[in-house]
Amino acid sequence: MVTKRFGRRSKALQCTSLRKPLQRGGLNTMAATMPASIDLLLFATVAQAAAAASLTAFGLRRDRHPGWWWWLAAMWLTTAGAACAALAPGPWALSLAPPLLLQWPLVTLMGLRRFHARQHWPGHWGVDATLLAVASLVAWAVGLLTPEHATWPVVVCGLAVHLYAAAVMFNGPAGSEATPVHFLGGTVALLAFAPGLAVLGTDLATQAPAPPLAAHAARVLAATLGAIVLAFVALTLLFERTERQLRESRRRLRLLANVDALTQVPNRRRFNELATQALRADPPGSAVLLLFDIDHFKQINDRLGHPAGDRALCLVAGSVLEHLRAMDAAGRHGGDEFVLLLRRTNTQHAMGVAARIVAELQKRTQNTPLPPLSLSFGLVQLRGGEDIDAALRRADQALYEAKRQGRSRAVAASGDEDQPVFSESRPLGLMPA
Ligand code: GH3
Ligand code: MG
Repeated sequence: MVTKRFGRRSKALQCTSLRKPLQRGGLNTMAATMPASIDLLLFATVAQAAAAASLTAFGLRRDRHPGWWWWLAAMWLTTAGAACAALAPGPWALSLAPPLLLQWPLVTLMGLRRFHARQHWPGHWGVDATLLAVASLVAWAVGLLTPEHATWPVVVCGLAVHLYAAAVMFNGPAGSEATPVHFLGGTVALLAFAPGLAVLGTDLATQAPAPPLAAHAARVLAATLGAIVLAFVALTLLFERTERQLRESRRRLRLLANVDALTQVPNRRRFNELATQALRADPPGSAVLLLFDIDHFKQINDRLGHPAGDRALCLVAGSVLEHLRAMDAAGRHGGDEFVLLLRRTNTQHAMGVAARIVAELQKRTQNTPLPPLSLSFGLVQLRGGEDIDAALRRADQALYEAKRQGRSRAVAASGDEDQPVFSESRPLGLMPA
């Protein structure tokens, strides 16, 4: 029945100005309806190529979401399909165009499935792929083998594919609120089908070229589609900018939360985190903790002012960082106190590091209005299983002892917290005023 109808239609069309494409064979039934809308196809091809190019450019510049490759494939395959139909009206090009154009809603849907991999979307990717494969094959095979029947399989397959994709996209992932993206996806899936249906299908009933009203409707729908694509590009640009700003704010917040604003070394909380991580990774009892502060620092503030005190703190931090290995950790403990964790070492070596920090500090204060600065250190070798807070309490006792012994020295403590033994005391050169 259908064959008969299309056969009659072909004969009728041969009498029109569209005879040439029909005589070339291939998907000429479809082509016959296309010249009226060839400018539309050209417009669609150019718009599609522009959208595909911008998606490629944006995707290459930024972190790509899991569905990105699928969406890129959907855009470029559709561009290829539109180009086939618009620019190369040979039988092969015309039989390739429908399968290429049919795939986009389902490939886009597969991208969404990847994007929302942790949430279950209605349907299954296997169903998407099967539907896509069957629809493409039917459209291609019928278009190539029986060109006079090309229109209706394309329309039917297109309708099925678009309706299925639109239904899934409107539903969105299970357990989540439907977002504007789902509606946008579903609407585009439906709208993209409409121009094709209008152009390809208007002659199904009448067996005549598309009437002006249908052609006009197709143009309006294509323009709507173009507008949606443009809106999508604009939204993507906006999203890109907002995301960049968010990333920058997050980076700044992380920095503020972890780093001491004045000296730029890790703050106490961050130091504790770093030290705890290091202790977990190292053999028990292999690290040395140093707690130190500036001798008579209050006098600097009192005599030279708070900004000079700030400068002194920065010089101390710079001197510490100068002598730190990449695996060690340093932090500002508070006020004029700093803390250091030297990994895989002993108190002998740690005393040497303390002396080098003091020497560096003296070098750095030479060309400043600051007086020579001396430091007092309390050191402890960590014990197996000891946490950073317990080690800090023992180091504080050693620091107190260094102050008691006259400052500008490093004192190592061993023994328990309630019965400390100050096993070593080493002067660090400069004697405080
Ligand atoms: P000691 O030899 O016993 O350590 O004597 P000290 O004068 O250094 O006494 P202490 O360590 O208790 O003094 C810490 C001072 O550090 C007190 C406070 O006014 C000052 N201070 C704390 N934070 C800052 C800061 O960020 N900038 C400046 N300029 N001073 C600070
Ligand atoms: Mg002090």
